[in-house]
Amino acid sequence: MTHSHLTPKVSADIAVKHLRSIVGESYVLTGSADLKTWGTDWTKVYEPKPMCIVLPLTTTDVSKILAYCHDNELAVTPSGGRTGLCAGAVASDGEVVLSLSRMSQILNVDSTGLTITAEAGVATEALQDAAKKVGLFFPLDLASKGSCQIGGNIATNAGGVKLIKYGGTREQVLGIEVVLANGSILDMNVALRKNNSGYDLKHLFIGSEGTLGIVTKAVLRLMPKPRNLQLAIMAVATFENIPKILTECSLAAISVTAFEFFTQVAHKIVLARFAGARTPFAVISPFYVLVEIEQPGSEPEMESLLEKLFDAGLITDATIAANSAQFREFWGLRENITESLAAHGQVRKNDISLAIDQLDPFVKELEKLLGRIITTEAASTVASAAVDALELVLFGHIGDGNLHINYVSPKERNPKEFQAAARLIEEEIFKLLTKFKGSISAEHGIGLTKKKDLHFTRTAEEVAWMRQTKKMWDPKGILNPGKIFDL
Ligand SMILES: Cc1cc2nc3c(=O)[nH]c(=O)nc-3n(C[C@H](O)[C@H](O)[C@H](O)COP(=O)(O)OP(=O)(O)OC[C@H]3O[C@@H](n4cnc5c(N)ncnc54)[C@H](O)[C@@H]3O)c2cc1C
Repeated sequence: MTHSHLTPKVSADIAVKHLRSIVGESYVLTGSADLKTWGTDWTKVYEPKPMCIVLPLTTTDVSKILAYCHDNELAVTPSGGRTGLCAGAVASDGEVVLSLSRMSQILNVDSTGLTITAEAGVATEALQDAAKKVGLFFPLDLASKGSCQIGGNIATNAGGVKLIKYGGTREQVLGIEVVLANGSILDMNVALRKNNSGYDLKHLFIGSEGTLGIVTKAVLRLMPKPRNLQLAIMAVATFENIPKILTECSLAAISVTAFEFFTQVAHKIVLARFAGARTPFAVISPFYVLVEIEQPGSEPEMESLLEKLFDAGLITDATIAANSAQFREFWGLRENITESLAAHGQVRKNDISLAIDQLDPFVKELEKLLGRIITTEAASTVASAAVDALELVLFGHIGDGNLHINYVSPKERNPKEFQAAARLIEEEIFKLLTKFKGSISAEHGIGLTKKKDLHFTRTAEEVAWMRQTKKMWDPKGILNPGKIFDL
């Protein structure tokens, strides 16, 4: 599949030879297994077909690589942990994959200024561990944290489960170092909390999906550790009760650190597919909400909250994690959904967001559209038999207005037919999002998979400014061509 308008000025052999002269013989990979592994991400939809994989060790290496690719019009795909869910790191068109994996040093942990400085290839979990070691906390938290890298998190502006309390990646970033398309180094890697001296350019690169520059370093905020986290899993009969539970938390002035949900379909798939997963309830409920709170004082805030929610008829059952093993077990019921789905069947993913007060009206319209309620697998009345055969699996960071809608079919189903059926519903959902002023991507990004849909929730003017911005920073279009939009 061609995404690029570029006409390389050198052959692949010559390019590989030159790249080896920059990073060393063994750090440019061309073996077919390597090309396959590094040319794709979690989407697994596109056939990987990169030219080579190049693994720089320093910012200077990255600068030399980009200067060479720029001069010779070679497309470059930046690559982090490749856990992306929209084919942002996919290289399917002869690109040079630039992996930051060897740039994995934590450079400084400052427990006075509350910052951590790291190279882009550091895994998110390694940042969490480094903060923990000095008694502090790095709040970016996502189920892929063991594999994804801070560079990838910045490039996607990753959200995660703690966004409701601490914000997403953007809110954690104080400074970044970026290598631009022509190889020049833009040093914005400062640890300032306040800096109103002109435009804050770093924000352009956060969430730019590797299309404007390569993030090589970052200074990130650390926090004091949250004190006495409590976790409860609640059974909920109807979707409309979920935003109401959130309201009750706010009115009770509870410090909510995570507010997640999943449907019974998602729950059953985890129970069937994830080794060791157990439900804490005797009866399966249509919805579950996982609420984590910080309870710094001696008052049993979680118990009081649950009492209130039972009295108001907002929940039908609930259980509080009694120890750290149960804490992990309950979190596992939510965090293992993506992996369990991958084991369960073919999956097409949506990652939409809405204003919180629009969640319930949106879901009601969605159910009308589907001709079924979202927690059952009953046949649709509006679509085709092919659509009826899809399982709909909903979960997500509902406290942030973020719904992950997954269309699932057995692995044996013809993939093309499956994708076409899922697309039928997806398009209708995106039209609904236009009406509800939502977004087709809350946190995963656009990449290759959603670029044709950008127009549903971004205006033509916004997209035109995005194109102008891209042209300004990367006039030849060598950085991640074909991602977000075509030039
Ligand atoms: C099980 C699971 C759970 C997940 N949960 C969440 C979640 O809760 N919240 C969430 O937001 N996402 C989630 N994701 C998606 C994914 O983990 C995030 O998008 C993550 O930030 C991607 O990081 P990565 O290092 O894997 O990047 P990659 O997938 O390698 O790349 C992602 C994009 O960033 C670009 N890129 C990578 N590194 C750089 C760099 N140094 N400079 C410039 N561009 C770069 C790539 O070109 C690509 O466009 C989940 C994924 C999985 C598999």
